[in-house]
Amino acid sequence: MVSLTRRHEQVAADLARVHGRIADACADSGRHAGEVTLVVVTKFFPAADVRILADLGVSDVGENRHQEAEAKAVECEDLALRWHFIGGLQSNKAAAVTGYADVVQSLDRRKLLGPLGRGAQQHDKTLDVLVQMSLDPPGAVHRSGAPADDVLDLADGVAGTEGLRLRGLMAVAPLRADPAAAFDLVAAMHAELRAQHPEATWLSAGMSGDLEAAVKHGATHVRIGSAVLGSRPRVE
Ligand SMILES: *Cc1c(COP(=O)(O)O)cnc(C)c1O
Repeated sequence: MVSLTRRHEQVAADLARVHGRIADACADSGRHAGEVTLVVVTKFFPAADVRILADLGVSDVGENRHQEAEAKAVECEDLALRWHFIGGLQSNKAAAVTGYADVVQSLDRRKLLGPLGRGAQQHDKTLDVLVQMSLDPPGAVHRSGAPADDVLDLADGVAGTEGLRLRGLMAVAPLRADPAAAFDLVAAMHAELRAQHPEATWLSAGMSGDLEAAVKHGATHVRIGSAVLGSRPRVE
């Protein structure tokens, strides 16, 4: 096992590099670095790493599988972190996710509204919700996210559900495609969304490989895993 001190140093160095990339990308597009929130994606990494991140000043972490997320969130309850659920949601798990999540970024169908809203109310919280827009070409294998045509309707659904607060839009750039073209579509959709829901100011886009393009296109949240914590086993 890598010693805790060495791991701490390694994560600190990689985190500093990512903060630098975000600051450079903001400077390049005339934005303030404070406009972009770093969500460190901790999936596959142990709670010990989450503790290191908190110690290094990270406030927001992201997870994409319910059981793993729940276990880690419970183990790290004392850390006052904001937990973002960013993965595919099964409707029978949705209410349970509200037990630890502060933000669900991956709302992609109406069926989730009821369980998320009820769960949030049961836990006496207001859950922040982003609608996830699919950027896969029509007809392609649908990875995750709602088709563009459904996004505004889903946003209305979130806004109209007690216990939920509509915050904005999330997207994952398609594999092997130009992220700039994909983020153009997301930015246009975000503008449409804000025209109808001015409170929906968050745009979650950008991962380790494409955060610069995302920041250039107005991302307010970037979800960074491997650039901070290293590579994950390839089981996804
Ligand atoms: C895993 C994951 C990320 C982080 O990906 P990296 O390339 O490791 O930065 C971001 N967003 C989602 C939805 C993810 O599942």
